[in-house]
Amino acid sequence: MAKGREDTRLVVITIDGLRWQEVFTGADEELINDTKQVRDTAELRRKFWRDTPEQRREVLMPFVWNTIAKQGVLVGNRNKNSVMQVANKTNISYPGYSEMMTGMVDEAIKDNDPVNNMHRNVLEVANQDQRYAGSVVMYGSWKSTRFAIHNEPAGIPASVAYEAPIAKKQTPRLKLAERMLAGMPHYWRSEHFDAFTYAYALETLMNDHPKVMWISFGDTDEWAHSRKYDLFLDAAHYTDAFIRDLYEACESDKFYRGRTTYLITCDHGRGFGNEWGNHGGSTKGSEATWFMAWGKGVQALGEAHDGGPFYTKQFAATIAKVLGIDFVPESGEQLPPLPIE
Ligand SMILES: [Zn+2]
Repeated sequence: MAKGREDTRLVVITIDGLRWQEVFTGADEELINDTKQVRDTAELRRKFWRDTPEQRREVLMPFVWNTIAKQGVLVGNRNKNSVMQVANKTNISYPGYSEMMTGMVDEAIKDNDPVNNMHRNVLEVANQDQRYAGSVVMYGSWKSTRFAIHNEPAGIPASVAYEAPIAKKQTPRLKLAERMLAGMPHYWRSEHFDAFTYAYALETLMNDHPKVMWISFGDTDEWAHSRKYDLFLDAAHYTDAFIRDLYEACESDKFYRGRTTYLITCDHGRGFGNEWGNHGGSTKGSEATWFMAWGKGVQALGEAHDGGPFYTKQFAATIAKVLGIDFVPESGEQLPPLPIE
């Protein structure tokens, strides 16, 4: 261990373009009744409509509201004046992932192309620390995510879209998941369904025991762009279940139990009302992001009120704090971590 500092384990989860509105208030009344964007409004209402925002958010994301909210921190409910946003002006995905991992904004980064981001990022700095070297890995649904941490030059094994899983131990369950993905419609060309990201991540955690893993989900963003509000809500709901499973698996494994911090955020928000499908520099409200944390070193502060604005670029400093590493963004601007204690 370096400088006498204890090592820790960290699971970072990102959920692409999941709006704060659904995280903190559940299903939207206008959209859940829109027959152009929902196949069966009665069925969707049965699943996700309730009388109050507190009930709606709990039925949509039960693990978030029954476990994370009690054990940890949630930032970004603008109805309670807790504000978080991206600092970049694009409000799109790659610049958002770049911002959260490099701790800075590069105004030249303004599209989603899968090209290496050459700015120093916090995961590569972790991978250079002797406590974490060779123990940082990444899985992503969307192709461009791994390029945001220029994983290959940084020596961070990563697998995205239709690439093979990078686990050291290729188990039968992993082989089965890989075979199933090959036999699914490749519905999105540069992104696979999140169920496979979940399966690959879970198997790799349990068999390889990496100390740091970034798991990047994306179904929420794809269904929102397609303006399928039922599939968007379903994705929020099953992503919550994936997170619960990953957490429970880690806490039932002695390598992770009681030694793991969990951080979750998103790369951008989306528009209001009927603009909910869109995000970008000209879509009002799509700069809004949110953040949650629980586990080792995180206090049970619950849902934040009256704070911020916090910025997505503070996420890198938060990872550095959790891991006990020194990280200075290339901008030279050292930012405070997000409030986890
Ligand atoms: Zn995105």
